Amino acid sequence: MTAWPRWTAGFGFFALVCACSPPSAAQPSVNAVQPGSPPKLIVLITVDQMRADYLDKWSSQYTGGLARLTKNGAVFTNAFQDHANTETAPGHATLLSGREPNHTGIVFNAEGVPDAGSPIIGGGGPGASPFRFRGTTLFDWLKYRDSRSRALSVSRKDRGAILPIGHSREAAVYWYQADGRFSTSSYYGDKLPDWVNAFNALHIPQSYAGKAWTPLLPPSEYPEPDTVIFEDGGREPFFPHVLSRDYDQAAREFVAFPWMDDVTVQFALAGVSAMRLGAGRSTDVLAVSLSSTDAVGHRFGMASRELHDQILRVDRAIGVLIDSLYKLRDSSTIVFAITSDHGVTQAPELAEEHGDSPRPTRVDLSPIAADFQATLATKMNTDSAMDYLDAVLLLNRSRLNRSHVSADSVARAFAEAARRQPGVMRADLFKDILAADTLTDVIARRWRHAIPAEWPVAVVVTLNHGSVWGTTPGVHGSPWDDDCHVPIVFYGPWIRPGKYDELARTVDIGPTFGQIAGVKPSEQLDGHALVSAIAKN
Ligand SMILES: [Zn+2]
Repeated sequence: MTAWPRWTAGFGFFALVCACSPPSAAQPSVNAVQPGSPPKLIVLITVDQMRADYLDKWSSQYTGGLARLTKNGAVFTNAFQDHANTETAPGHATLLSGREPNHTGIVFNAEGVPDAGSPIIGGGGPGASPFRFRGTTLFDWLKYRDSRSRALSVSRKDRGAILPIGHSREAAVYWYQADGRFSTSSYYGDKLPDWVNAFNALHIPQSYAGKAWTPLLPPSEYPEPDTVIFEDGGREPFFPHVLSRDYDQAAREFVAFPWMDDVTVQFALAGVSAMRLGAGRSTDVLAVSLSSTDAVGHRFGMASRELHDQILRVDRAIGVLIDSLYKLRDSSTIVFAITSDHGVTQAPELAEEHGDSPRPTRVDLSPIAADFQATLATKMNTDSAMDYLDAVLLLNRSRLNRSHVSADSVARAFAEAARRQPGVMRADLFKDILAADTLTDVIARRWRHAIPAEWPVAVVVTLNHGSVWGTTPGVHGSPWDDDCHVPIVFYGPWIRPGKYDELARTVDIGPTFGQIAGVKPSEQLDGHALVSAIAKN
């Protein structure tokens, strides 16, 4: 066990940047805005696994950032990650690129950013980079206009930090490591700047060792029962949840506690100060991805008291972020958006009956995929002709052809076997998805947006509404609205507050910021600026 001094330097730092005003004290000073002038700082806040309905669900208890954003911002009530495979990597890649996964090339979560050729600075792993990402992002558009623009992107997760920025090596991109540090990979540089080393030297995550997570509000404020035995796989389905007393173990477990979001915010604010973000003549970008909601949602599920409490804490954490930015910079120069990389589906065990629709269930096609794999391996003396990942069957057609095996026959047989499984609604040949009417067939549209047309994908499988692939209390990844419907809220002097029920997509966030900042990429985008929410100067 490493003996870090507890509650010493870490606590002092926390107190320094948390000296925040109450939410009402720092409204954007609209009068200070020069007509037509671009913002100095664009802030994107992403809450991992935040469903759209969480904005309203506990709104009477919000006192921080969610309260301010929803009361004074432009709230898009009909907003979506408009693609299947609603996972962290594909979702984050859409946010500032203006492009769906079929055009960013970030399709699978597990194959989003891992890169053994880009090791983590200071050790640990795995290495990561944006080498699979295609296209440009808001930061590239800003830099093309003014090379002085800078960007800072931070997250607990590598993909959450890397993908909103895209390819740029000039951005400061940091994510949390299992040893309690924030670091980056060799893609971005060969050493950490002093401010990152200074922050890491505080050992803030380790200072939480042995601390108990208890509900923020009195028990009567939570309608959810605390002890639903199914939560956390029955291991610890009730409060309090205590972080390990061992410092090393505490740093590892920290990612699944609400405090991870607080420390991510503190790290972002330290970076804003050190980099003087938003203090120059150009437009800078700050992307903050808060990941604890995803961890809590997976562990306890969306109906849990833990998830309710986590969202209250996210509200407070975002409040600290906004208040602190308003202390550091002129509030009239900052524009915000908040969104999510995906939502989540209610656990099938807790799902309500929906008329005639099939009872939601958990599905696992991996035994079927293994059977197909084994049969092909016997026929071809190789096991590299097919892959099955995240409801997608990939076939190596040329390899199958060389062995005189019809890829179309394999695809059809797999689709038929999948359709016979309880919980499976449809198993589409990918070529049929590419030819489908994507206006009327939303599922087909979301699959089409999920995968590049030229990829060797043979079959995509969609479950019945409410059925899920995974085994945890909370699961996402489907093309249904449970996982696709996310918040999109803009806030700041450039924004006309109100509720907007027009269709909005996460690919619209980058172009909307671009329009506000006066930059536009030359490449074709899937998204467009949500002009109805932009104030006319
Ligand atoms: Zn997740």
